Amino acid sequence: MISIEKALEIIQEQSVETKTEIRTLEDCLGYSLSKDITAPFDMPSFDNSAMDGYALGGIYKEYKIVGEVAAGDKSEKKLQEGEAVRIFTGAKIPDNTTAVMMQEKTTVTADKLFLEHLPKEGQSIRKKGGELRKGALVFEKGYTITPAGIGMLGSLGISKVSVFKKPVINLITTGNELVPPGKSKEEGQIYESNSFALASACEKYRFFCADNKQIPDDFEAIKSGIKASLKTADLLLLSGGISVGDYDFVKQALEENGVEELFYKVFQKPGKPLYFGKKADKFVFALPGNPASSLSCFYIYVLPFLYKLSGSEKKGLPRYSFQISHDFENRSDRPSFMKAKVEQNEVKILDAQGSSMIRSMATGNALAFLDAETPVKKGDLIECFLIS
Ligand code: AMP
Ligand code: MG
Repeated sequence: MISIEKALEIIQEQSVETKTEIRTLEDCLGYSLSKDITAPFDMPSFDNSAMDGYALGGIYKEYKIVGEVAAGDKSEKKLQEGEAVRIFTGAKIPDNTTAVMMQEKTTVTADKLFLEHLPKEGQSIRKKGGELRKGALVFEKGYTITPAGIGMLGSLGISKVSVFKKPVINLITTGNELVPPGKSKEEGQIYESNSFALASACEKYRFFCADNKQIPDDFEAIKSGIKASLKTADLLLLSGGISVGDYDFVKQALEENGVEELFYKVFQKPGKPLYFGKKADKFVFALPGNPASSLSCFYIYVLPFLYKLSGSEKKGLPRYSFQISHDFENRSDRPSFMKAKVEQNEVKILDAQGSSMIRSMATGNALAFLDAETPVKKGDLIECFLIS
C-alpha cells in the first residue's frame, strides 16, 4: 500500500507519448497547444475609439463637427485644432485626435459640439499594441484552450492551431450483479451506473470514451475483454473486480495480458484498491467498483493523468482551502477525500460518506481532504478539490 502523494508522484513521473494534429478554431476547445502562440501583429492593430462619441482635435469645450467615422471605415481624415468627428466604438480614430468624448457627455447644435467638461488627453482611445505587441507570447505550449482562448486566437486572425491529440479512452465495467438502467432487474442485482458516471466525468473535462464494455465476473471474459480493449486504447479504465473478493479477477487478468503494475492499493478512503499499470505506451487504471470510490479516484488520479496524456499544463482539479463551517472528526485511520459542499467561502462536510453513496457527491461540489483520525475545529482551513 502506498501513500496518496506517492501514487500521484508515480502518475506524474510516467513518460507519455503525445502526438499532434492541426485543428480548426471551431473544433479545438479543451485541446492543449503543442506550440507557443505569438502575436502576428500589434493588438489592437490601429488606434481606435473605445466609445460611441466624438473624436476631438485639441482640448476645448466646443468643437466644429466635420465628419463621421464608423467601425470598419478607413478613416483618412486628419483633425485640425477645434475640429471633431462623430465616431463609433471600434472605429479607427483620425490622425491628430487628442481624445474621444462619449456621446452621453455632449450636446450638438447643428454642426457645433458642446462638452460637459474638458476632455483628458488620450481618453477613450484604445492604443495600437495596447493589449499585445507583435511577436509577444500570447499562449504557451500546453495551454488548454478555453472559450476566451478561442476568442483571442480568432481576434489574431488564427483559424487553425497545432494541438496535442486527445488520448483514446476505453472503459470496461465488471460485475455479475450489474444491469443497465432502463432494464428490469432481479433480486440481488443492481443497476450499472459507473460507466455512465465515468464517461460523463471524462466528457466534463472534454475527454471522450471511445468504447464502453460491460463484462461479467468471469476470468476468461475479463482477460479477453482487456486484450481487445488494449489494442485501441491509450488509456483503459476498468471499474470493479480489483479488490480482494473471490470474484475480483481484474488484477490477474491484467497481469496475464502483460500489464505491468505501477501501483496497487493506496492508503486512502475511499478508493483503497486503486490500481495503475502500463503495457508499452498504454496505461490502465482499475478503479474500485463502489460508485463514490470510482468517481473520486477518477477526479484525484485519472484526471491529472488525462491532462498529462493530452499535453496539458493542467495538473488536475482546482484546489483551494476553505474554512470549515463546523467541528468535524475524521474517524477513519486513512486520509480521506470527503464529499463536501463549498458555499459562501466555507466548506461543509456532507452526510452519507459511504463508498457506495454517490448522492452526496452529486449534490456537493468538492472533495475535502482530511487527515486520518484528526479532529478539526470550525474555522480551520481545509484543502478542497473542486468538482464543479
Ligand atoms: P467491486 O469493486 O467489484 O467489489 O464492487 C464494489 C461494489 O460496487 C459492489 O457493491 C458492486 O455491486 C458495486 N459496483 C461495482 N461495479 C459497479 C457499477 N459499474 N455500477 C454500480 N455499482 C457497481
Ligand atoms: Mg465486482
